[in-house]
Amino acid sequence: MTDSLTLPDGNWPVLEPGWVWLCGAGPGDPGLMTLHGINALRQADVVIYDALVEPAILDWAPQAEHVYAGKRGGKPSAQQRDISLRLVEMSRLGRRVLRLKGGDPFVFGRGGEEAQTLVQHGVPIRIIPGISAGIGGLAYAGIPVTHRDVNQSVTFVTGHDQSGEAPSSLNWKAIAQGSQVLVIYMGMKHAGQIAAALLDAGRAPDEPCAVVCAATTSDQQVLETDLAHLPADIAASGLEPPAILCIGRSVLMRQVLDWQTMMAGEEPRNTDPLGRGRPAQAS
Ligand code: SAH
Repeated sequence: MTDSLTLPDGNWPVLEPGWVWLCGAGPGDPGLMTLHGINALRQADVVIYDALVEPAILDWAPQAEHVYAGKRGGKPSAQQRDISLRLVEMSRLGRRVLRLKGGDPFVFGRGGEEAQTLVQHGVPIRIIPGISAGIGGLAYAGIPVTHRDVNQSVTFVTGHDQSGEAPSSLNWKAIAQGSQVLVIYMGMKHAGQIAAALLDAGRAPDEPCAVVCAATTSDQQVLETDLAHLPADIAASGLEPPAILCIGRSVLMRQVLDWQTMMAGEEPRNTDPLGRGRPAQAS
């Protein structure tokens, strides 16, 4: 399926020996990979990829060695250091190294740390952004992270800190009061603590929430609930990470924009979930 894909004509960058490119693979659906990413996959001698990279994407690099550097959910950072140093070693061997990470490499993916280590060791790098799960994954669930009638801001939050605990340095009160829509990565484990902190800081118990699991993959599942019921509903659903939590009224838009269900022939549940009245007539 994949080897017939040709890049459009253009001046595509060359992955030279000794370079490391850090590339986002998007949230899952291989179609969300960028053209720069495909160009990189074609040239790499070695691809070091994470647990969240969809395996089909590696088919675009049949010539390369595929090295799994998987690590899920806030494990100790010693392992992270190993990965970074391995990238340094590979580059010093003169290999064309592609570091492939789920979503966007610079969004909660420790890509910044890896890139920093590479630069500190004098390794030349290129960064290829990707579609982050907190934006593209929600879009696949029919949830726009911004909508003029809902929010003028969105806050991306991690539900883990480096030790794997709920992040202690976050000012939940400020977040609760200052941010209209929250998009929480790695939030499943501590969903109870997060919901309690937000309720405690004054967010409404009936605030709409969605949990989007394995977003953009064929296993995508979406749970819709509200803040008061979020932890219990997650537990009852049996849903597993990876998942994005979205808290805010944008979740209501899924009632009209759940395009995957509509593609399967279902009508939208409600074409005006925010109660803004009839849309403008097309002329
Ligand atoms: N760099 C990645 C995020 C890495 S942190 C990005 O930009 O998307 C890992 C977390 O990302 C997971 O715990 C989960 O919260 C989220 N995530 C990544 N892929 C996902 C997917 N396909 N569906 C739902 N959540 C996903």
